[in-house]
Amino acid sequence: MSTKGGGEQTLTVALRIRPLNEDEILQGASPIAYKVENNMVVLLDPTEDHDDILRANRSREKQFVFDCTFDGSANQEDVYEATTKELIPNVITGYNATVFAYGATGAGKTHTMVGKDDSPGIMVRALNDLFLEMEKTSEDMAYKVTMSYLEIYNEMIRDLLNPAAGILDLRENSKGDVTVAGLSEVSARSTDEVMQMLLKGNRERTQEPTAANQASSRSHAVLQVTVRQRHRVKNTLQEVRTGKLFLIDLAGSERAANTHNRGKRMVEGAHINRSLLALGNCINALSEKNGPRYINYRDSKLTRLLKDALGGNCKTVMIAHISPASLNFEESRNTLVYADRAKHI
Ligand code: ADP
Ligand code: MG
Repeated sequence: MSTKGGGEQTLTVALRIRPLNEDEILQGASPIAYKVENNMVVLLDPTEDHDDILRANRSREKQFVFDCTFDGSANQEDVYEATTKELIPNVITGYNATVFAYGATGAGKTHTMVGKDDSPGIMVRALNDLFLEMEKTSEDMAYKVTMSYLEIYNEMIRDLLNPAAGILDLRENSKGDVTVAGLSEVSARSTDEVMQMLLKGNRERTQEPTAANQASSRSHAVLQVTVRQRHRVKNTLQEVRTGKLFLIDLAGSERAANTHNRGKRMVEGAHINRSLLALGNCINALSEKNGPRYINYRDSKLTRLLKDALGGNCKTVMIAHISPASLNFEESRNTLVYADRAKHI
């Protein structure tokens, strides 16, 4: 079930609770986030004295309902099939779609979007499905799939496939189309190739140690897949449509204050908060019942880049991520509130 917004936009909000990890178990953490029936999530407040989930279940402010909810028993395929698979035919027929992974550092965003060789995430699965779908209609149609992979760090754009290019500029032409000047676009041929590219690109991401996490991602990583479709007519190829799919691994949503950061770290935190807030505002505005009100994309590089994909005819999926551990109660609550607000019911 998706929340229908103005025009042809739809917004789906999903939640993924990862399993407790070894570190959390070693620290004696107990699980406090549960999936219960009907895609509902219950979050127990570890500072309050309640030992049973049923009591929390009755307290409204600790319950959240999403379009889909996954717990530690869901695998990569489950998450892909329920959130992203249905977007693929739209992209092939020339529509735009965006999938965001939101959540604090360590909550599982990169696992969902990139994954590993033996448990690939949404990015690889989506490209695999794009290749398969296109094969089905390749007699009448000619397709070209290209991809770009960039990061936005402190409001600066870098090409993850060509880091030597330095800081890149966003350009807007007279038609209002937004592009990144000098960004490399590569053609993809196989999913294996895509995976290797993503893993290599991820190693180029700005990773800075913080007090909260030794290798936290302070940047947004954006995979942009462009499908150009042409009809095969009497040996002449005529361009008919372009569809874009944005798959985005957002920077950790934890607050600068929580990580005891000073100086450089605090600036990063401020930039991240600002862009996540701008994104939330845009998504929120798009899901308004009476069609979108005025939307300010200009508040951050991320929302400027996504202007085409968030406005107009598009589908948007947000997958929020939380740890189930009591240690992460504050972050989990913040994430649930952000994702809940995006739904705007
Ligand atoms: P983030 O990108 O949000 O900072 P990661 O995706 O890097 O978090 O996840 C942190 C760690 O937890 C990684 O080692 C990852 O492999 C593991 N992990 C995350 N989600 C899951 C999951 N659903 N199942 C198993 N392991 C997971
Ligand atoms: Mg990550």
